[in-house]
Amino acid sequence: MLRIECPCCGPRDHDEFRYGGDASVARPAHDDPDPEAWYRYVYVRDNPAGSHREFWQHVTGCRQWLIIERDTRNHVIAWVGFARKTARKMPA
Ligand SMILES: [Zn+2]
Repeated sequence: MLRIECPCCGPRDHDEFRYGGDASVARPAHDDPDPEAWYRYVYVRDNPAGSHREFWQHVTGCRQWLIIERDTRNHVIAWVGFARKTARKMPA
């Protein structure tokens, strides 16, 4: 069982959350005409063995979108933060 420390609600089981995808993928600009950039944004993902940033939403709690840094080898969560405060500060 994965336990996620929600910044609003405290530690909760992962059943209360919805996985929202890879948080390390940067969306192209709305007016970017490059189909390759949009293809990579929609379909291409890394599959790292180790630290990985992911979006999760606390759907049965505060409904906040979070960014979680999780080790994919052992599911240890190293960091949790609000997506709204973090997403634009993340390195590509
Ligand atoms: Zn919460």
